Amino acid sequence: MKAWILEEPKKLKLEEFAPTEIAENQIKVKIEEVLLANSDFEVYSGASKRKYPFILGRNAVGVVSKVAGDNPFFNKMDRVSIEPYIPCEVCDECKNDEYEKCSNMQELGNNCNGLLQNFIDLPYSLLHRLPDKLSTEKALFVPYVAFCLNVIDALNLEKGRHIAIFSSTKTGLILAQLVAYYQAVPVFISNREQLLDTARELGIFYCFNPEQTDVENEILAITGGRMCNELVLFSNSDFNMKDVYSVAATNANICLAGYSNKESKLSVAQICKKHLNIFGVYNGAGSYSSAINLLVTETVNVDALIGKIVPFDKLDEELAKTNPDDLILKSKIVKIN
Ligand SMILES: [Zn+2]
Repeated sequence: MKAWILEEPKKLKLEEFAPTEIAENQIKVKIEEVLLANSDFEVYSGASKRKYPFILGRNAVGVVSKVAGDNPFFNKMDRVSIEPYIPCEVCDECKNDEYEKCSNMQELGNNCNGLLQNFIDLPYSLLHRLPDKLSTEKALFVPYVAFCLNVIDALNLEKGRHIAIFSSTKTGLILAQLVAYYQAVPVFISNREQLLDTARELGIFYCFNPEQTDVENEILAITGGRMCNELVLFSNSDFNMKDVYSVAATNANICLAGYSNKESKLSVAQICKKHLNIFGVYNGAGSYSSAINLLVTETVNVDALIGKIVPFDKLDEELAKTNPDDLILKSKIVKIN
């Protein structure tokens, strides 16, 4: 077994371990490809601190290498998407079978060791078999689509309604496509021109940069003065909360999507004055099967987000010369041979 160990910010070391014996109900997965996005780079660079040593990697696709006991669901060589969320199974939510609401959720590559290794033993409940038609590169985005599906579930989506999406990251492009698929109207707001251009190419009609346009006036015009009843702010984005409030209708729902160390000042006065309902969604747990289906049917297009392929053994050299801006639109793909 081999794994990249982050010993301290920007210091990676490839280590070899003795192979493990798999426990009952577990499956040994040979990891094929791991996605490296901005949030992983923030952990690598130390912008987001972890307890070291730490193994990066939250999104990966693998192949079943060994199955413990008689498992009727998986066979050797099945290609699988790995769900990184491990519910605690002891909190009240878990006991009520509401695993996606677990209050002590562990996430591989975020608050526990991740997937940048060649083999990992996992409970079979975290694995989702992939159809042959879906390429491994596209399947790396299953967790993003699943997360956006949970955001959609939390919103009150109505046909024809305008949904404001504030996003400095590529996840907003996936959410905008889903909003359109469910027949609402996405309004994509980003301070990154690269993301705005890609959104336009994906057929998202309303795209605005708040640094160049008065977004409040634009939304006033396109909604006929009604403003937006549903808004999404990706929590790792850089926006002035004033811009977000200014496009919200009275009684609007604002979904804070994702988790990030970034702090935003929430204006209590604005929340009260407009009777805003603010809530968070941070994971894709429970939506993996639907996400796989939306990618295989090409309802969600992630072609523009697939970046350079990096060989596993050269990862340290590659990350040392990576600039975080390189990862805004395209994620790197680490190929493990
Ligand atoms: Zn729990």
